[in-house]
Amino acid sequence: KAVVQCPPKSAELGRSSWTLLHTMAAWYPDQPTTQQKSRMANFFQALAEFYPCPWCADDFQQNIDKTPVQADSREDLCMWLCDQHNRVNKKLGKPLFDCNMTNLDERWRKSTNPKCQP
Ligand code: FAD
Repeated sequence: KAVVQCPPKSAELGRSSWTLLHTMAAWYPDQPTTQQKSRMANFFQALAEFYPCPWCADDFQQNIDKTPVQADSREDLCMWLCDQHNRVNKKLGKPLFDCNMTNLDERWRKSTNPKCQP
């Protein structure tokens, strides 16, 4: 029997999107080239324009206008993105993430937890 697969609802889309975005930031270069910096800024601008949840995209665009993408280094990008995600968490009444590189790398790059080992 065929399994029905439905289009994503905004929460599922959000979880998948944050997974991609934080993981991408976690592996961004420590010392990006000028081209990499501008491509990353353009990527987030396009994402904020085309993110397929209109009310999410509106707020994300406004937040990027207020606090432009910080892509000068891996740490700058991870911290900027963490703050962007926390703005959404705050709006939705979700717990805030403690944004520091130890926590972010543990969650999104390489965990020391035995349960996370391959
Ligand atoms: P999520 O918020 O999806 O988080 C996934 C995991 O990320 C968490 O389990 C936690 O381990 C980790 N995490 C949490 N906070 C941080 C952080 N600050 N830094 C790093 N890691 C963190 N939904 C709406 O209803 N309204 C909106 O306006 C809206 N705007 C959005 C804008 C963007 C750009 C994106 C990508 C998503 C948006 N969403 C919005 C979706 C929303 O953020 C959540 O993804 C969704 O509600 C599911 O939440 P969740 O509790 O599963 O965890």
